[in-house]
Amino acid sequence: MSISTIVVGGGIAGLTAALRLAERGDVVTVVDAEPSIGGLTRPWEIGGITWDRFYHVILPNDYHTIELLEKIGLRDRLVYRPVKTNLYAEGHLHPFSSLLDFLTFPELGPIDKIRLLANVAHARYSGNDEAYEWEGVLEYLTRWSGTNTVERIWRPLLRAKLGDHHATASAAFIRATIKRLQGARRSGVRSEHYGFVHGGYAIVLAALEAHLRKLGVEFVLGHRVRSVVLEDDRVTVILGGTEFAGDRAMLTLPSPICAALCPQLKANEQRLLTQDRYFGVVCTSLLVNRRLGDAYVTNVADNNFPFTGMINMSALAGREQFNGYDLIYLPKYVPAESQGLHQSDDILVARAITALQRIFPWLGRSDIIAARVARASHVFAFPRIGRIASLPPVRTSLRRIAIVNNGRLRYATLNVSDTIGVVEAALAELTHDAGWNNVREINGRALARSR
Ligand SMILES: Cc1cc2nc3c(=O)[nH]c(=O)nc-3n(C[C@H](O)[C@H](O)[C@H](O)COP(=O)(O)OP(=O)(O)OC[C@H]3O[C@@H](n4cnc5c(N)ncnc54)[C@H](O)[C@@H]3O)c2cc1C
Repeated sequence: MSISTIVVGGGIAGLTAALRLAERGDVVTVVDAEPSIGGLTRPWEIGGITWDRFYHVILPNDYHTIELLEKIGLRDRLVYRPVKTNLYAEGHLHPFSSLLDFLTFPELGPIDKIRLLANVAHARYSGNDEAYEWEGVLEYLTRWSGTNTVERIWRPLLRAKLGDHHATASAAFIRATIKRLQGARRSGVRSEHYGFVHGGYAIVLAALEAHLRKLGVEFVLGHRVRSVVLEDDRVTVILGGTEFAGDRAMLTLPSPICAALCPQLKANEQRLLTQDRYFGVVCTSLLVNRRLGDAYVTNVADNNFPFTGMINMSALAGREQFNGYDLIYLPKYVPAESQGLHQSDDILVARAITALQRIFPWLGRSDIIAARVARASHVFAFPRIGRIASLPPVRTSLRRIAIVNNGRLRYATLNVSDTIGVVEAALAELTHDAGWNNVREINGRALARSR
């Protein structure tokens, strides 16, 4: 008889868990609060165009994502293109893609530039990431890049992403960010190459869902899980009005949410799951009928802006994907408890456009074809110094309940590929775990009953 496993969370982590468990013969049910799968990769519609609500690219070294695309038959829809990057600093927009751009960048002197190059090379090529987990990000950057570059470039960028507590982040965080972006530079090619799937993540999620259904995976969507309990060797997942019982459950939600859902966990487990401060994101999307440059990313090193950077998806995917318009994303990361997550769309859109007009003064309100705001409260755990040393374990004291989420990313910034890698590593860890694997043979499909 098969083991029935309930996967809580239908984002990339939950879908990866469902895929691997179903391939091993489990009968899998995925439960998600939203009406469709995909979590942060879910698509939406803006101005008649369907695309990701948060921008996504696939880098050449995103091996897990590429392998997934291969498996679901989408490898040939993945397209790589060279992209340009800009930096907005000290009131000016600077191209920042090539060595020449860098050498002619006016805000730094020659010594600063040599030190910055050495810093990037060190972050990219030196090993022993674990040691940098214990060093503060500003100490590391100052040691390599020098005070001038830290104050003019690094600190504003860090503050934009991590807020006022940026100084308490670990050096491992910035090294992981640099490594990931440098990985987009294909060997022998100077420019960065980013990839996207024709049609965006909507296409990926549709193919993945179809693949999972063929493997027998069932979906319970649009139902928020209220709690997960272990009773008489069965795991019960309680939703509003209904509950599901299965042999075991894998929770793929952010750690503090898992802690709240599992009241039976011991105090020490609760402490580990709630110790991290989570950051969310507010991301304003605009569909614009003017060309806002040809850079995919414009990093904003200016803390008076209400966004961290500007992403122009049309510069990568081509305007033909978006009815000839520029699809612009303006993300702002904020602590999960921040009021900023609850501001009205009207206020956020107006503020975003006003700030954008500082970079592109010729941009008029009538150029905006459509605007929408996407929000997510728990996107990443703040990369505080030493965080990796106190990660909660995958196995819990409730043997049939495992917790695997993207908070387990080690020395990597949040991305789809490494999220898949985290889940696969966790499943490998659980392969020989007696509590997780030895279920009685009477079980089978997860059973729903009303509560
Ligand atoms: C602005 C932005 C840009 C990004 N850009 C890129 C990029 O360019 N490239 C890249 O590779 N990655 C990118 N990412 C990261 C990528 O989106 C994530 O790594 C990935 O989607 C994380 O998946 P997850 O399953 O861990 O989490 P999530 O996607 O957050 O999934 C969690 C799921 O749990 C569900 N849930 C929560 N609470 C409950 C509950 N109580 N009951 C039931 N269900 C619940 C949610 O609805 C959600 O579906 C970006 C992310 C953001 C926010």
